[in-house]
Amino acid sequence: MSAIKPARRWQPAFFPFKKESFGKRLLAKVEFSVKGPLFGCRMCGNCLLQETAFICPMECPKGMRNGPCGGITPEKNCYVDETRKCIWYAIYKRALKTGREETLLEVLPPLDWNKVGTETWGDVIRQIKKVGTRKFVGGIISGDKIIKAATWDSVFKTIRQPEWWSGDADYHPAPEREPVTDLERQLREGKFVVATEVTPPLGAGTDKLIRDIESVKPYVTAINFTDSSSARPKMSSIACCSVAINQGSEPVFQIAARDTTRSGLQSTVIGANAIGIKNILCVTGDNSIIGPSPTSNMNLLDIDSVQMLWIIRKMRDDGVYLDGRSYKNLPRLFLGSATSPFALEPELQALKDQKKVNAGAQFFQTNLIFEPERLDLWLEQLDKRNVLNKVFILVGVAPIKSYKVAQYLHTKVPGVSLPEKILMRMENAGESASEEGVQIALEVIDSVKRKQGINGIHIMTLGWESIVQRLVTESGLGLPTR
Ligand code: SF4
Repeated sequence: MSAIKPARRWQPAFFPFKKESFGKRLLAKVEFSVKGPLFGCRMCGNCLLQETAFICPMECPKGMRNGPCGGITPEKNCYVDETRKCIWYAIYKRALKTGREETLLEVLPPLDWNKVGTETWGDVIRQIKKVGTRKFVGGIISGDKIIKAATWDSVFKTIRQPEWWSGDADYHPAPEREPVTDLERQLREGKFVVATEVTPPLGAGTDKLIRDIESVKPYVTAINFTDSSSARPKMSSIACCSVAINQGSEPVFQIAARDTTRSGLQSTVIGANAIGIKNILCVTGDNSIIGPSPTSNMNLLDIDSVQMLWIIRKMRDDGVYLDGRSYKNLPRLFLGSATSPFALEPELQALKDQKKVNAGAQFFQTNLIFEPERLDLWLEQLDKRNVLNKVFILVGVAPIKSYKVAQYLHTKVPGVSLPEKILMRMENAGESASEEGVQIALEVIDSVKRKQGINGIHIMTLGWESIVQRLVTESGLGLPTR
């Protein structure tokens, strides 16, 4: 471990897909021998080091390029490999320490795999020449912060932000228009909204799925269908959404980056909208390390959830695919994302969430919350960043059925931890554990429904769909208007 690179080791370097000229191969070797030990560089060929506090983000097993996932452990280790620190946590901490945290807001592109394994120094040298070597050096050593930043960007922004991506750190509001879904309409009307989840079936039969949808339908505005949660295959989210639409319910289509490529995402979004799906929730997805054996690829996502939001927002608002092709009949979508309010310190978590909102998130559904009082600091930070007026927040609430389920959530689900007092309550409840679980959920609902900045709840049923009616009626939330 060097003084510059804070993590324990870096993963193997990427190799180029095609044979490069001798000069380029030599330059790549020299670049890796310097950047590897110093920054943890893996030769992704799409260098972002200048924006990531000079720590290579490709050390993250998922290859997240826009900030940490929600699965970071309470010790700030990576849940995919708990023997090392979350590299994105290190990046955030160093950026904060050096006063460069605002640079982390820029939405960074996915890899251009044509460049993977190749050198970047050649591009840098060519770009410096284009700008003018003397002008570049003069700007970089200038005492004027604005000139310095502009000079830096004149070289590095063109490299890290290719034309096909053109990411920035700005907020891009959805165009003024009528709400496209009941969920959006009710949130915009200021109603306290209830959404829930119905568990997708294992087999191809839809009888139980239809029964579950029918049982929650009168009490909620929208129903989420997870996308192979915990990396376990089930009926696809899009198929469940289609069944829900046929039953007269409003679905929230979840798409996990884990199983999604950029081309698959774009085709799926167009197809989903064509069959009437208008609420989309972009999530990173649990890594396959927590899924069943045999374990599938744990390394590198093609796109992360921020990039998903960026791509879908541009498809919706500009009618363009990532490759620049344009089309008529733009999809009408209400875009959301997941967030883990307690994954990082509130200040850092708010930074990550602001990036998602800038990229296109119009609503958040949070991870499971058992300590609602801890939300206040996070909400304060979001408010400080002027984000609360740009996004609707639905708090994740779970009725826990047993002590075993509580332990499972606490130890096995990335990003979820139950406080000792909740675990004790569930354990001490013995035979009445399910009733205790309901009381805990009701207490959370009671607390969050009075919080400024919270716009609703998202009941994660954990397969206990029949409890939704009781939670909604006993918490006095009232039935949704259609
Ligand atoms: S997978 Fe998540 S927890 Fe692990 S390094 Fe990447 S962002 Fe951090």
